[in-house]
Amino acid sequence: MGQRKPLIAGNWKMNLTRPEAVTLVEAIVAAMPRAAGVDVLVAPPFTFLGPVREVIGDSGVLLGAQNMHHEEKGAFTGEISGPMLRELGCTHVILGHSERRSLFQETSEMIDLKVRAAVQFGLIPILCIGETLEQREEGRTFQVVEEQLDVSLKDFRAEQRMDPSTILAYEPVWAIGTGRTATPEQAQEVHRFIRGWVAGRFDGQTAEGVKILYGGSVKPDNVARLMGETDIDGALVGGASLKADSFVTLMCYQEG
Ligand code: PEP
Repeated sequence: MGQRKPLIAGNWKMNLTRPEAVTLVEAIVAAMPRAAGVDVLVAPPFTFLGPVREVIGDSGVLLGAQNMHHEEKGAFTGEISGPMLRELGCTHVILGHSERRSLFQETSEMIDLKVRAAVQFGLIPILCIGETLEQREEGRTFQVVEEQLDVSLKDFRAEQRMDPSTILAYEPVWAIGTGRTATPEQAQEVHRFIRGWVAGRFDGQTAEGVKILYGGSVKPDNVARLMGETDIDGALVGGASLKADSFVTLMCYQEG
Protein backbone atom coordinates (compact mmCIF):
# COMPACT_ATOMS: atom_id res chain seq x y z
CA MET A 1 0.00 0.00 0.00
CA GLY A 2 3.09 2.21 -0.15
CA GLN A 3 2.92 5.57 1.54
CA ARG A 4 -0.82 5.60 2.13
CA LYS A 5 -1.48 5.60 5.88
CA PRO A 6 -4.65 3.61 6.69
CA LEU A 7 -7.63 5.57 7.95
CA ILE A 8 -10.44 4.13 10.07
CA ALA A 9 -13.34 6.60 10.16
CA GLY A 10 -16.53 6.38 12.17
CA ASN A 11 -19.69 8.01 10.83
CA TRP A 12 -22.00 8.32 13.82
CA LYS A 13 -24.90 9.61 11.68
CA MET A 14 -27.84 10.93 13.78
CA ASN A 15 -27.13 8.75 16.81
CA LEU A 16 -26.09 8.94 20.48
CA THR A 17 -26.77 11.38 23.28
CA ARG A 18 -24.14 13.91 24.27
CA PRO A 19 -22.96 11.85 27.29
CA GLU A 20 -22.80 8.74 25.10
CA ALA A 21 -20.80 10.62 22.50
CA VAL A 22 -18.33 11.82 25.12
CA THR A 23 -17.95 8.33 26.63
CA LEU A 24 -17.37 6.83 23.18
CA VAL A 25 -14.70 9.32 22.19
CA GLU A 26 -13.01 8.92 25.59
CA ALA A 27 -12.62 5.21 24.86
CA ILE A 28 -11.25 5.97 21.38
CA VAL A 29 -8.74 8.46 22.76
CA ALA A 30 -7.63 5.93 25.40
CA ALA A 31 -7.04 3.32 22.67
CA MET A 32 -5.02 5.63 20.39
CA PRO A 33 -1.61 4.32 21.49
CA ARG A 34 -2.68 0.86 20.26
CA ALA A 35 -3.59 2.23 16.83
CA ALA A 36 -0.08 3.41 15.94
CA GLY A 37 0.34 3.69 12.19
CA VAL A 38 -3.39 4.18 11.61
CA ASP A 39 -5.28 7.46 11.33
CA VAL A 40 -8.53 7.49 13.28
CA LEU A 41 -11.43 9.85 12.57
CA VAL A 42 -14.85 10.36 14.11
CA ALA A 43 -17.73 12.21 12.47
CA PRO A 44 -20.32 13.01 15.16
CA PRO A 45 -23.58 14.92 14.68
CA PHE A 46 -23.00 18.69 14.49
CA THR A 47 -24.14 19.35 18.06
CA PHE A 48 -21.51 17.01 19.51
CA LEU A 49 -18.57 18.41 17.53
CA GLY A 50 -17.60 20.87 20.29
CA PRO A 51 -17.74 18.42 23.23
CA VAL A 52 -16.05 15.68 21.21
CA ARG A 53 -13.30 18.10 20.15
CA GLU A 54 -12.64 18.88 23.82
CA VAL A 55 -12.14 15.22 24.65
CA ILE A 56 -9.93 14.67 21.59
CA GLY A 57 -7.44 17.30 22.76
CA ASP A 58 -4.04 16.49 21.29
CA SER A 59 -4.67 12.74 21.10
CA GLY A 60 -4.46 12.77 17.31
CA VAL A 61 -8.05 11.60 16.71
CA LEU A 62 -9.30 13.45 13.63
CA LEU A 63 -12.64 15.22 13.64
CA GLY A 64 -15.00 15.24 10.68
CA ALA A 65 -18.49 16.52 9.92
CA GLN A 66 -21.10 14.51 8.04
CA ASN A 67 -22.14 17.20 5.58
CA MET A 68 -21.84 20.92 4.82
CA HIS A 69 -23.27 23.61 2.57
CA HIS A 70 -21.08 24.91 -0.23
CA GLU A 71 -21.61 28.60 0.51
CA GLU A 72 -19.57 30.43 3.12
CA LYS A 73 -22.60 32.08 4.75
CA GLY A 74 -26.02 33.46 3.99
CA ALA A 75 -29.75 32.71 4.00
CA PHE A 76 -29.60 28.91 4.08
CA THR A 77 -31.80 27.97 7.01
CA GLY A 78 -30.75 24.76 8.70
CA GLU A 79 -27.39 24.53 6.94
CA ILE A 80 -23.80 24.75 8.17
CA SER A 81 -20.76 26.13 6.37
CA GLY A 82 -17.16 25.05 5.97
CA PRO A 83 -15.78 27.94 8.07
CA MET A 84 -18.22 27.03 10.87
CA LEU A 85 -16.97 23.47 10.82
CA ARG A 86 -13.37 24.66 10.87
CA GLU A 87 -14.16 26.85 13.86
CA LEU A 88 -15.44 23.74 15.66
CA GLY A 89 -12.16 21.95 15.02
CA CYS A 90 -13.13 19.81 12.04
CA THR A 91 -10.41 18.85 9.59
CA HIS A 92 -12.56 16.58 7.40
CA VAL A 93 -16.07 16.47 6.00
CA ILE A 94 -17.99 13.52 4.57
CA LEU A 95 -19.69 14.52 1.32
CA GLY A 96 -22.14 12.71 -0.92
CA HIS A 97 -22.98 9.90 1.47
CA SER A 98 -25.60 7.66 -0.14
CA GLU A 99 -28.11 8.71 2.54
CA ARG A 100 -27.60 12.34 1.51
CA ARG A 101 -28.05 11.36 -2.13
CA SER A 102 -31.14 9.17 -1.67
CA LEU A 103 -32.97 10.79 1.28
CA PHE A 104 -32.06 14.44 0.69
CA GLN A 105 -31.91 14.50 -3.10
CA GLU A 106 -28.26 15.51 -3.28
CA THR A 107 -26.94 15.23 -6.79
CA SER A 108 -23.36 14.79 -7.93
CA GLU A 109 -23.52 18.39 -9.24
CA MET A 110 -24.32 19.63 -5.72
CA ILE A 111 -21.60 17.43 -4.29
CA ASP A 112 -19.07 18.88 -6.74
CA LEU A 113 -19.80 22.35 -5.32
CA LYS A 114 -19.36 21.03 -1.80
CA VAL A 115 -16.06 19.30 -2.60
CA ARG A 116 -14.70 22.52 -4.08
CA ALA A 117 -15.93 24.55 -1.09
CA ALA A 118 -14.49 22.07 1.42
CA VAL A 119 -11.02 22.43 -0.10
CA GLN A 120 -11.42 26.20 -0.36
CA PHE A 121 -12.27 26.39 3.35
CA GLY A 122 -9.43 24.11 4.41
CA LEU A 123 -11.37 20.90 4.99
CA ILE A 124 -10.44 17.50 3.58
CA PRO A 125 -13.41 16.06 1.69
CA ILE A 126 -14.28 12.39 2.07
CA LEU A 127 -16.26 11.85 -1.11
CA CYS A 128 -18.62 8.85 -1.06
CA ILE A 129 -19.57 6.96 -4.19
CA GLY A 130 -21.16 3.60 -4.82
CA GLU A 131 -23.79 1.68 -6.73
CA THR A 132 -27.19 0.34 -5.65
CA LEU A 133 -27.99 -3.37 -5.70
CA GLU A 134 -30.07 -2.90 -8.84
CA GLN A 135 -27.21 -1.15 -10.61
CA ARG A 136 -24.80 -3.92 -9.59
CA GLU A 137 -27.15 -6.63 -10.78
CA GLU A 138 -27.50 -4.83 -14.11
CA GLY A 139 -23.71 -4.95 -14.44
CA ARG A 140 -23.43 -1.16 -14.21
CA THR A 141 -21.18 -0.81 -11.15
CA PHE A 142 -18.18 0.68 -12.97
CA GLN A 143 -20.35 2.94 -15.10
CA VAL A 144 -22.19 4.34 -12.05
CA VAL A 145 -18.99 4.86 -10.07
CA GLU A 146 -17.36 6.56 -13.06
CA GLU A 147 -20.33 8.89 -13.56
CA GLN A 148 -20.38 9.80 -9.87
CA LEU A 149 -16.65 10.54 -9.91
CA ASP A 150 -16.81 12.47 -13.18
CA VAL A 151 -19.55 14.79 -11.96
CA SER A 152 -18.70 15.01 -8.25
CA LEU A 153 -15.12 15.99 -9.13
CA LYS A 154 -15.98 18.13 -12.17
CA ASP A 155 -14.17 21.14 -10.76
CA PHE A 156 -10.98 19.23 -10.13
CA ARG A 157 -11.21 17.79 -13.63
CA ALA A 158 -11.60 21.26 -15.13
CA GLU A 159 -8.46 22.34 -13.27
CA GLN A 160 -6.74 19.07 -14.26
CA ARG A 161 -5.66 18.72 -10.66
CA MET A 162 -7.21 16.88 -7.77
CA ASP A 163 -6.41 18.23 -4.33
CA PRO A 164 -4.01 15.52 -3.14
CA SER A 165 -5.53 15.23 0.32
CA THR A 166 -8.98 14.34 -1.05
CA ILE A 167 -10.23 11.00 0.24
CA LEU A 168 -12.55 8.76 -1.76
CA ALA A 169 -14.88 6.25 -0.11
CA TYR A 170 -16.37 3.38 -2.08
CA GLU A 171 -19.61 2.47 -0.36
CA PRO A 172 -21.82 0.04 -2.26
CA VAL A 173 -25.33 1.11 -1.21
CA TRP A 174 -26.43 -2.53 -0.89
CA ALA A 175 -23.82 -3.08 1.82
CA ILE A 176 -24.59 -0.04 3.99
CA GLY A 177 -26.32 -0.94 7.25
CA THR A 178 -27.47 -4.26 5.78
CA GLY A 179 -24.90 -6.59 7.33
CA ARG A 180 -24.05 -7.59 3.77
CA THR A 181 -20.40 -6.74 3.05
CA ALA A 182 -18.77 -6.71 -0.34
CA THR A 183 -16.22 -9.50 -0.43
CA PRO A 184 -12.64 -8.23 -0.27
CA GLU A 185 -12.30 -9.23 -3.94
CA GLN A 186 -15.45 -7.33 -4.97
CA ALA A 187 -14.29 -4.25 -3.08
CA GLN A 188 -10.72 -4.47 -4.40
CA GLU A 189 -12.00 -4.69 -7.98
CA VAL A 190 -13.86 -1.41 -7.64
CA HIS A 191 -11.07 0.25 -5.65
CA ARG A 192 -8.63 -0.63 -8.40
CA PHE A 193 -11.05 0.82 -10.96
CA ILE A 194 -11.31 4.05 -8.91
CA ARG A 195 -7.53 4.37 -8.65
CA GLY A 196 -7.32 3.81 -12.38
CA TRP A 197 -9.91 6.55 -12.89
CA VAL A 198 -7.78 8.96 -10.84
CA ALA A 199 -4.69 8.02 -12.86
CA GLY A 200 -6.57 8.54 -16.12
CA ARG A 201 -8.21 11.85 -15.23
CA PHE A 202 -5.24 13.26 -13.32
CA ASP A 203 -1.91 11.45 -13.08
CA GLY A 204 -0.20 8.40 -11.67
CA GLN A 205 1.29 10.18 -8.70
CA THR A 206 -2.10 11.48 -7.58
CA ALA A 207 -3.57 8.01 -8.04
CA GLU A 208 -0.83 6.40 -5.94
CA GLY A 209 -1.33 8.91 -3.14
CA VAL A 210 -5.13 9.07 -2.93
CA LYS A 211 -6.72 7.21 -0.03
CA ILE A 212 -9.68 5.06 -1.01
CA LEU A 213 -11.79 3.85 1.92
CA TYR A 214 -14.27 1.01 1.84
CA GLY A 215 -17.62 1.36 3.59
CA GLY A 216 -20.48 -1.08 4.00
CA SER A 217 -21.00 -3.26 7.07
CA VAL A 218 -17.32 -3.21 8.08
CA LYS A 219 -17.06 -5.16 11.33
CA PRO A 220 -14.28 -6.51 13.57
CA ASP A 221 -14.54 -9.90 11.86
CA ASN A 222 -14.07 -8.66 8.29
CA VAL A 223 -11.83 -5.59 8.63
CA ALA A 224 -8.47 -7.35 8.40
CA ARG A 225 -9.32 -9.16 5.18
CA LEU A 226 -10.64 -5.98 3.57
CA MET A 227 -7.60 -4.02 4.70
CA GLY A 228 -5.37 -6.72 3.25
CA GLU A 229 -6.37 -5.71 -0.29
CA THR A 230 -3.88 -3.57 -2.20
CA ASP A 231 -6.17 -0.67 -3.01
CA ILE A 232 -8.21 -0.55 0.20
CA ASP A 233 -6.68 2.14 2.39
CA GLY A 234 -9.17 2.30 5.20
CA ALA A 235 -12.77 1.96 6.27
CA LEU A 236 -15.73 4.28 6.64
CA VAL A 237 -17.80 2.66 9.35
CA GLY A 238 -21.41 3.31 10.35
CA GLY A 239 -23.03 0.85 12.76
CA ALA A 240 -19.83 -0.60 14.22
CA SER A 241 -18.51 2.89 15.02
CA LEU A 242 -21.20 3.48 17.65
CA LYS A 243 -19.88 1.01 20.21
CA ALA A 244 -16.49 1.53 21.82
CA ASP A 245 -15.50 -2.13 21.79
CA SER A 246 -16.18 -2.69 18.09
CA PHE A 247 -14.71 0.62 16.90
CA VAL A 248 -11.60 0.20 19.05
CA THR A 249 -11.15 -3.29 17.58
CA LEU A 250 -11.43 -1.80 14.09
CA MET A 251 -8.93 0.98 14.69
CA CYS A 252 -6.52 -1.54 16.26
CA TYR A 253 -6.97 -4.10 13.47
CA GLN A 254 -3.23 -4.27 12.92
CA GLU A 255 -2.82 -5.84 16.36
CA GLY A 256 -4.33 -8.94 14.75
C1 PEP B 1 -22.03 4.14 6.22
O1 PEP B 1 -23.13 4.57 6.47
O2 PEP B 1 -21.16 4.88 5.71
C2 PEP B 1 -21.76 2.75 6.51
C3 PEP B 1 -20.76 2.18 5.91
O3 PEP B 1 -22.60 2.13 7.40
P1 PEP B 1 -22.46 0.63 7.97
O4 PEP B 1 -21.05 0.45 8.42
O5 PEP B 1 -23.44 0.56 9.10
O6 PEP B 1 -22.81 -0.29 6.85
